[in-house]
Amino acid sequence: RVSQARGVVASAGDNAGKVLIDSNEWWTGPMEAGVRAGAAMVAQGNRYWPNRNRQDLLKAVSEIEGVPTDHIMPWPGSGDPLCRAIVTFCSPQRGLVTLDPTYEPSWETAEWLKVPLAKVALRPENNWKTDVRAMLAANPNAGVYYICSPNNPTGTLTPIADIEWLVANKPAGSIVLVDEAYIHFAGTPSAASLVAAGKDVIVLRTFSKLFGMAGLRLGLSMGRPDLLEKMMRYDGFSQSFMLSTVALATGLASVTRAQEIVQRRNEMTANREMTFAHLRQRGISYIPSVANMFIVDWKRPAKPVREAFAKQGVIIGRNWPIWPNCSRITVGSESDMRSFCKALDTVIA
Ligand code: PLP
Repeated sequence: RVSQARGVVASAGDNAGKVLIDSNEWWTGPMEAGVRAGAAMVAQGNRYWPNRNRQDLLKAVSEIEGVPTDHIMPWPGSGDPLCRAIVTFCSPQRGLVTLDPTYEPSWETAEWLKVPLAKVALRPENNWKTDVRAMLAANPNAGVYYICSPNNPTGTLTPIADIEWLVANKPAGSIVLVDEAYIHFAGTPSAASLVAAGKDVIVLRTFSKLFGMAGLRLGLSMGRPDLLEKMMRYDGFSQSFMLSTVALATGLASVTRAQEIVQRRNEMTANREMTFAHLRQRGISYIPSVANMFIVDWKRPAKPVREAFAKQGVIIGRNWPIWPNCSRITVGSESDMRSFCKALDTVIA
């Protein structure tokens, strides 16, 4: 139902040969070392065996992020712990404060739970900045303050100093949920430092974006063990068994490859900046982004524009109700972005 509401396009089979810049995916597969490790694990798929790679992944992430291993929990993607955090820390007395536009599952879960929901709009006059003071004012007794940084769909960053301010001023018993799905594209400091300092912060990560593993399903939550444990309280099933051994092996072989992470970031940035130059030449407004997606303001309804792009074989992203004239565009390969620019010239003509 939610997928239909958001206009998520059909399966890749239906989109064969099309330029897919709608879902913030990486345009090729996982890193080569990841593909090799994952493929080797497929042949051992008869075994449950998740624990060794799970422990190794925790150790690797712990070293990279400076967070103890018992503060890290892997998941089949980060969408699951995102929704669980809302279920766990929100209640009829303690609602959710989120941004608008932002990644929707936080507020969709709050709506489903029927808990108080406040959305703080990102405003052009404020440079689309996350206003953490407005977030606190919107509900001084919330259970969760959700910040996606870089934000999906704007690609804008919330500086760590602002997150620190919110953590220092928020009510006791609440958490600040920092969704860092796109942080590798920005290369900026992580809120993991606040987790390491024992604050009421949960950080989410995913392997679905820069690591090219969206279909393999692997994500992480980082937080104090007492917070992470609360998120598990309704699980009768051992959490390790939710994880695919193939995804664990692929993720483990990829996460330590710092040089390839930078290479992927640089390649994406070059493609994004090339596209921005084209938009500027055509006088089309966009929001400067530090991630692999950006918002374009068509100054007319975005839905027909999306359909016009689809007719050109270019599948662009959805729009958010708060900004009906804007579309989200994912940064794809150089060739994808050249196709986007070419289709754009036809669509705006
Ligand atoms: N968080 C953000 C901000 C996202 O954009 C996405 C996916 O697009 C997710 C979380 C969930 O990703 P996954 O469940 O694939 O890790």
